[in-house]
Amino acid sequence: KSGFVAILGRPNVGKSTFLNQVMGQKIAIMSDKPQTTRNKIMGIYTTPEEQIVFIDTPGIHKPHNALGDFMVQAAYSTLRECDVVLFMVAADEPRSTGEDMIIDRLKRAEVPVILVINKIDKVHPDRLFEKVADYTEQMEFAEVVPISALQGSNTDTLLNILTDKL
Ligand code: GDP
Ligand code: MG
Repeated sequence: KSGFVAILGRPNVGKSTFLNQVMGQKIAIMSDKPQTTRNKIMGIYTTPEEQIVFIDTPGIHKPHNALGDFMVQAAYSTLRECDVVLFMVAADEPRSTGEDMIIDRLKRAEVPVILVINKIDKVHPDRLFEKVADYTEQMEFAEVVPISALQGSNTDTLLNILTDKL
């Protein structure tokens, strides 16, 4: 199985940490060109069964200038190029206008969108249930997967679920 997976979400939710966690396990290619941090960073995860190209996007935020606008457009453009979207949010932060803006765009996505609730190591399980309910009321997700990118908790499950969608 193979395909392109875009990782979208506000800055600081843990997108790069997740990619590093996945790549740390099975690294093939990790781009580190400086300009890609302002554009897109790619990691290719390869096993005998699968090849997944991850596209780590710059965080989506309300653009305040031309560069900011360019970065947001770059993040959204990956939506048209990918097979699955990982929409990452932080378990320890409330849903914000930043997330709502992304959700508005994701509702029109033509590919499966997986809600990834990251940083579960920072919250009580009760808070996690509330978070899931809050987001799933906003739109329908193909899957909802809680993880800790930092600790590597449940990231294997996410990879399996992801591969099933390709
Ligand atoms: P990005 O802007 O979405 O790429 O976010 P980063 O990957 O740069 O992470 C932002 C911050 O959150 C960093 O300080 C990470 O160490 C931290 N972080 C990321 N994932 C987790 C997690 O699962 N648990 C905790 N406690 N911190 C995390
Ligand atoms: Mg990042």
